[in-house]
Amino acid sequence: MRVLVKGAGVAGLTAAFELAARGAVVTIAEIRHGLGGNASWMAGGMLAPWCERESAEQPVLDLGHDAADWWDAVLPGHVTRAGTLVLAMSRDAGELNRFASRTSGHRWIDEDEIALLEPDLAGRFRRGLFFPGEAHLDPRRAMAALHEKLAGSGVEFHFGADAQYMTGFDREIDCAGMASRDDRLRGVRGEMLILHAPDISLSRPVRLLHPRLPLYLAPRADHHFMAGATMIESLSTGQVTARSMMELLNAAYSVHPAFGEATIVETGVGVRPAFPDNLPRVESHGRTVAINGLYRHGFLLAPAMARWAAELVFDSDKPVELADETDGQRRSA
Ligand SMILES: Cc1cc2nc3c(=O)[nH]c(=O)nc-3n(C[C@H](O)[C@H](O)[C@H](O)COP(=O)(O)OP(=O)(O)OC[C@H]3O[C@@H](n4cnc5c(N)ncnc54)[C@H](O)[C@@H]3O)c2cc1C
Repeated sequence: MRVLVKGAGVAGLTAAFELAARGAVVTIAEIRHGLGGNASWMAGGMLAPWCERESAEQPVLDLGHDAADWWDAVLPGHVTRAGTLVLAMSRDAGELNRFASRTSGHRWIDEDEIALLEPDLAGRFRRGLFFPGEAHLDPRRAMAALHEKLAGSGVEFHFGADAQYMTGFDREIDCAGMASRDDRLRGVRGEMLILHAPDISLSRPVRLLHPRLPLYLAPRADHHFMAGATMIESLSTGQVTARSMMELLNAAYSVHPAFGEATIVETGVGVRPAFPDNLPRVESHGRTVAINGLYRHGFLLAPAMARWAAELVFDSDKPVELADETDGQRRSA
């Protein structure tokens, strides 16, 4: 079966993997001239289903809790399984109780354990929440590695190619994110910074709770950190605003003053594609299967959505199952 995947974001790359693994002959068309610049490129890379459950529905946890295993199996060495640390300034300590009450998979830790986990944060926070089952990866490295792996296994990539002008395929997987023609989608703008702070090391993502602006720092290689991310109901991909920049830098500085000496290596903006209920969908329309609405859970949920899309493609001769899937859990998951 010849399958065209539209879009080389995390949805398209993972779908291509699952399709190729089932024997499809896969071509990916990506309208940009390389892997970068899309929402996936701007992501923090947190595989944090329990933290996300604080503000997300149960399917996000159900669909996401195996994501780290998937990434680990497909790209060995890319996943760091060191958990997530959730902290708050003492004036916002109530936020920790609220956060803890809205999810599971965590334990309370005191100042000493915070120092054991993150020596550079010794003495800075009295207590926090530790989510030991969570993981993270560097999205850009993961996407580049997946691209290489797919290309090496025979998946054809066409960069700078608009999928709508490509013909000769049995099926299409629409992974175009915000560019998909779906009136239900809205954009949630996320601004981020990449900081280089040679004087500080963190082993895991650190989330700093705040009543209005919960933010996080996700460690990358060589003392680089992704500071993210704003959540603004907007389709704008314009430059990071001064206000957002100040808020992100304030949060980083509150976690550790060494971030005051950091270099701002990059500022970036991604627009998260979201359905009204903030849950993703895999939907079948004729010969096209669409994966979309990954919202703030692209790396977390793409593996499950990719598997489902591939099953839909290969089970498409079974109309009863298809109806079940599109009208039932798979549609709303
Ligand atoms: C700042 C920020 C931080 C985030 N942090 C996390 C995180 O820590 N963990 C997590 O799991 N998720 C995170 N997310 C969410 C995640 O990034 C998104 O859910 C995910 O990137 C959506 O992926 P996608 O493949 O659907 O869309 P995209 O990444 O936007 O990819 C769609 C692709 O389709 C291409 N395309 C469009 N039209 C066409 C066409 N006609 N032909 C060919 N190609 C086309 C586009 O160029 C694009 O490359 C974050 C998002 C942002 C913005």
